[in-house]
Amino acid sequence: MKIKILTLFPNMLEGILKESILKRAIEKGVCSVELIDMRQYSLDKHHHVDDTPYGGGAGMVLACDVVDRAITAHRTAQSFKILMTPQGRPFQQTIAKELASKEELILICGHYEGFDERIRSYVDDEISIGDYVLTGGELAAAVICDSVIRLLDNAIRKESSEDDSFSDGLLEYPQYTRPVEYKGCTVPEVLLNGNHKLIREFRLKESLRKTILRRPDLLKNRNLTKEEERLLSMLQAELAADKNNA
Ligand code: SAM
Repeated sequence: MKIKILTLFPNMLEGILKESILKRAIEKGVCSVELIDMRQYSLDKHHHVDDTPYGGGAGMVLACDVVDRAITAHRTAQSFKILMTPQGRPFQQTIAKELASKEELILICGHYEGFDERIRSYVDDEISIGDYVLTGGELAAAVICDSVIRLLDNAIRKESSEDDSFSDGLLEYPQYTRPVEYKGCTVPEVLLNGNHKLIREFRLKESLRKTILRRPDLLKNRNLTKEEERLLSMLQAELAADKNNA
């Protein structure tokens, strides 16, 4: 996969590409990430990329001609172009999976007050990473890059991402490592006995417990398997008993 990021501040993104899993994925050739400074597409001798808004108001607006030239210079027939904007569709793991199947992504980062509305017609999608406003799209592009790259073949072991929260619609079960006992808190016995059938069932039940307690919305439209139905009713009984004993 190729990811091209159109930005006014490429330095903001350099660090994340030089560390950990992203660094290794790039080195292994799993993907390439190109940072493109949109300022080079300004025709202005001072490399201005923005201007004051028509109709008045605070801030500067990213100009459509600069972004258009930058996209035109870097797009290919395979490019899927995404604008970073708080007004876009809310980013989720399902969208990360969808994007991981594309051959090439172009992520366009706004800055300042925002961008000229006409830029919306140059892209295939608009994504928001949450209901808050960042100073620029760079952090949003970093979030998308990170979550998409770890899903690519050979970036990390498949099993690591398959059990992650949201991958199958639930939050992930609790994880433990050595020591078995720390400050009086112990690792659940079932994880120590090597019985894979019991471990799998424990993990599914705890995954359901976390989801029902923290994100019950995720269970609303889920087609529960017979096993999940059975574990959920056990859990509901346990939670009701905990409430009565509290
Ligand atoms: N005035 C704009 C509005 O109210 O929709 C917000 C502009 S914001 C200060 C500057 C840029 O940061 C945006 O154009 C966008 O590229 C990026 N940005 C800010 N918040 C974002 C979010 N939640 N998700 C994705 N991109 C965001």
